[in-house]
Formats: sequence, C-alpha cells, structure tokens
Amino acid sequence: VTLSQALIFGGTHGNEWTGIYAIKQEEKALNATFPELKISFIHANPEAFKINQRFKDEDLNRAFEFLDEKRKGYEHERARELKKLITEHPGFVLDLHTTTSNMGKTLILTRPDPVNFHIAQLVAKKVSGTKIILSPDPEQKYLVSQSSYGMMIEVGPVPQGVLSGMAYEDTLKLIKATLEALSDEKSIPEGEVEVYQEIEDVYYPLDHHQELSAYIHPDFQGTDFKQVLGKYFPFRDFSGADIEKEVAQPLYPIFINEAAYYPKKLAYSLCEKKTISYNASPL
Ligand SMILES: [Zn+2]
Repeated sequence: VTLSQALIFGGTHGNEWTGIYAIKQEEKALNATFPELKISFIHANPEAFKINQRFKDEDLNRAFEFLDEKRKGYEHERARELKKLITEHPGFVLDLHTTTSNMGKTLILTRPDPVNFHIAQLVAKKVSGTKIILSPDPEQKYLVSQSSYGMMIEVGPVPQGVLSGMAYEDTLKLIKATLEALSDEKSIPEGEVEVYQEIEDVYYPLDHHQELSAYIHPDFQGTDFKQVLGKYFPFRDFSGADIEKEVAQPLYPIFINEAAYYPKKLAYSLCEKKTISYNASPL
C-alpha cells in the first residue's frame, strides 16, 4: 500500500449532503492541486441520496460486517462492490460524514495503526479545533475499516438533508489537510497523539411502550467533548425532573442527540481522553 493513492467516499449516508457535493464539486480542483496523488472520488450510496434517506434497505456503514454472508438488499450489494474497489485500489480512505450533534470538526479512526495516528495528528495540527476519536471496529462493519489506512471525517452540527456552508468548508479544509499530509509524508516517524476513545453508549430512558420517557437536558445539549466528572444531568423527564448520572473518571460525551441514532434509542456516547504513542513505520 502506498499513501500516494487516496479514495474519497461521499454520501455513504444518503442524507448527508456535504460529502456528496464535496466529491462532485471538488474533484477537478483537488486533482489539480495534488497532481502527485492519485485520488478517486466515489459516491458511496447513490440510491439513498435519490430518496434523501440515510439508507435504502440497511445502513451501508454497518453492512461490511456481513460481506461473507451474501445478504440481499441494496446496501449489502453495494458493500461488496465497494470492498472489491478498495481491495483492487489500495490507498488511504477518507469517508465523509456529517452529524446533527455539535461535534465540530472530527476525525474518526477505526484502526489503531501508526499511519492513521500520524496522518490524523498532522491534520488536527493544520486545522485548529479538530479532534480525533478512536472508535475500534473489531467486526469491521464500517466502510473505512475495509482499508488498512483511512479515517472518517465527521462534521457537525448539520441537519440531515441540508447543505451547510460551514460544514462544507470545514470538510474541505480537512480533506485538503489530509491530502497535503499524504503528499508530504515519506515515512511515519514515532509520535504521540491525543484521542478520545469511545468506551460506553448511553441510551434514552424508556417508558413501558418503549418510547422516550425523557429528552436530552437543555443544558447538556450541544456539550459534545465537554468533560463530565462525578454527577451530571444528561436527561430531563416529561414531568420536568432532571435525571442524574454519575461517572467516576473524567469522560467526554460525543454524538449527543444524533438524529440517526433515535431508532437505536442511543442518546450519546462517552469517551476517555488519552495520549497514544505510536511507533515509526515504513511505508
Ligand atoms: Zn454518516
């Protein structure tokens, strides 16, 4: 594998318009700016974009776990096609996403490899305010996990089905910083990187109809990456009572009130902040 090849996927989720427009509108300019790189631009889930939904049959970004099962459905077929494409054209994968949560500019790594740590760290240094999330994927369900090297770009808050100028320009900055890093780096030196590692999912309180019995507390809404320690109040129930939770170590919430996670009743996730040392690595 060489870092002189990049594959940029947009629209893995059909209602996240930022990445879809980015791959269509920026192909020419990015190819002209980085002639030393071979960059492929791939619309990952065009059928879902046509109907402006996250997916047609199944979530494409969870479908790669089932590659060997020959499951039916558009996204399962698409996952097999994209896996073949990534296998035949190995390179650094960038998978573009947006979130309705107040996540700002984030890079999500699913493979703890020195190359991924180093590239993410360079991008975070170039684009101020960028945070790095480590979200290990042992089942390899995510698109980005299909390559040894790559990361998701996740920008928010953006409503679903909206092309937001701020998210678009932030995404473009992160893409350019990544391509610059791929273009500049001839080997991977040892280094350290600060990451937020996902350790726990927190679900909504439910009533006996399995409907929400509380909502995200107004003071908790939008506080992604803001440390919680000891007692805190993530929910308020419909009688107006605040619901308390407690953590014994400093943790950092992410994906607070992400619209796409309501079907799973997932309210937010908690991360540990840690510094990871990585070894030098040849390419
Ligand atoms: Zn997405």
